Amino acid sequence: MTLPQLQEITARYPTPFHLYDEKGIRETARRLKSAFAWNSGFKEYFAVKATPTPGILKILQEEGCGVDCSSLTELILSDKCGFEGHDIMFSSNETPACEYALAEELGAVINLDDFTHIDFLKGTLGYIPETISCRFNPGGVFQLGESKEGFQVMDTPGDSKYGFTRDQLFEGFKKLKAMGAKRFGIHAFLASNTLSNDYYPALAGILFQLAADLEKETGCDVCFINLSGGVGIPYRPDQEENDIAVIGEGVREQFEKILVPAGMGDVAIYTELGRYMLGPNGCLVTKALHFKHTYKEYVGVDACAANLMRPAIYGAYHHITVSGKEDKPCDHIYDVVGSLCENSDKFAIDRALPQVELEDLLVIHDTGAHGFSMGYNYNGKLRSAELLLREDGSVKLLRRAETPEDYFSTMIFA
Ligand SMILES: *Cc1c(COP(=O)(O)O)cnc(C)c1O
Repeated sequence: MTLPQLQEITARYPTPFHLYDEKGIRETARRLKSAFAWNSGFKEYFAVKATPTPGILKILQEEGCGVDCSSLTELILSDKCGFEGHDIMFSSNETPACEYALAEELGAVINLDDFTHIDFLKGTLGYIPETISCRFNPGGVFQLGESKEGFQVMDTPGDSKYGFTRDQLFEGFKKLKAMGAKRFGIHAFLASNTLSNDYYPALAGILFQLAADLEKETGCDVCFINLSGGVGIPYRPDQEENDIAVIGEGVREQFEKILVPAGMGDVAIYTELGRYMLGPNGCLVTKALHFKHTYKEYVGVDACAANLMRPAIYGAYHHITVSGKEDKPCDHIYDVVGSLCENSDKFAIDRALPQVELEDLLVIHDTGAHGFSMGYNYNGKLRSAELLLREDGSVKLLRRAETPEDYFSTMIFA
């Protein structure tokens, strides 16, 4: 987007705001769908927590996606957006009874996080739904692609709070079957933001073998396997992008190798991608307000960690460009900082940028997922607006910015 185009938007909608790209979202959804077109039951259940915005969920719905929810309000939001029945996956943990009750009322597929939730769900609903899914945690360490630089993907499921152990899964399936479940699913999420075409195929290999073993030992009918989220995006410009077509093909190879010979060639593959779907298709636009020259050079902007928390909590890198200066040399070193009374409120530390001037518009890239949604009201900061750049080039307001009245609306002064 050119500077004049962006200035036209900021004339109508003051900074900061998140701006999403409809064309990019649709293209991403279509690429994913085509990568898994070999599997007739394939479905993406977009992880609502990544971008819980009706205007975004509706685009994904038009592209054939369902939604993955993990809380009461995410379920209500999905219902309000017209998702129903098995288009809703409910992958929660430490779940209150009222949330299971609503998930069941909406006809969602319930994905249980723990063995003890079998009795809890039965106690809540009075029965076990005919379609049920369980989340698997293999424990230990999950790693992929060792090289001199270390592992390409490395995470520690053994330290994560999610999922059933292998033994619990076998016991759980038997128990659920005895309680009336007829159609079973398996879910696992072993590594986050993976930049590797091998993550999904490796995960699929583990889950497909598990599914074959489960069917054989328990007689349960495994109907779907949910590869969940975790396919990542290149936040840094020097990182290579995942190739979803290669990923889909890698999963297909495992499917042909393990499930087809086991007589399970009709199993549906599900995904619950958030970051991959939306991350690169959104940015945070903010204005340079102040320059501070102390022990370092600071650019103070009108966004803060309350609009984008990832740098402050994970030290995450987000690429930043200065609108209209994309081709200028990055010959200045700045810390780009927000206004929270919190020293971690830095969008970038020691970042090489072109010289930034007053009122320059800074574009913080790849904020489309886990960006706005992680926002909070610390320091009384208000959540920003969310805008959509439509395919025809027009801009649509998806969510207005919060006002002080919103902030005060839950307070009791009397
Ligand atoms: C967060 C989450 C996702 C999405 O993860 P991404 O890394 O954004 O792809 C999917 N499923 C569950 C259960 C999650 O908690």
